[in-house]
Amino acid sequence: MSECIFCKIANGTIPSEGVFENDDVFAFKDIHPVAPTHVIVIPKKHYATLNDIPQNEIDILSRIYAAIQEVARKTKIAETGYRTIVNTNRLAGQEIFHVHFHILGGRALGTMG
Ligand code: AMP
Ligand code: ZN
Repeated sequence: MSECIFCKIANGTIPSEGVFENDDVFAFKDIHPVAPTHVIVIPKKHYATLNDIPQNEIDILSRIYAAIQEVARKTKIAETGYRTIVNTNRLAGQEIFHVHFHILGGRALGTMG
């Protein structure tokens, strides 16, 4: 996936403000934050959308959620509260087709909808 912007962020070809990293997952600050804390968490392996993670690799989701816990603690939003969002395909407004989790916090986020 040589043209994928998030693959390039994961391998360092495109710079980003990293927040957390391990063998499987990378987390970095969103370039256009919509909340005081806005972090993107990605698997280092390319999957276009949530739909494209095969069942036999589904444990990547628990590793991503473990990373989300770490990021929330590190950015001090774990206790005040945060929202985790995954946009999938057109109607959700997915713009970058490398699966990613938004973590939003640091302000009241309102109700869903
Ligand atoms: P989505 O609409 O769920 O696909 O969200 C894509 C997100 O990626 C948006 O919030 C963008 O601001 C963010 N984004 C795009 N390019 C970059 C980049 N180079 N570094 C950090 N975040 C980015
Ligand atoms: Zn990718």
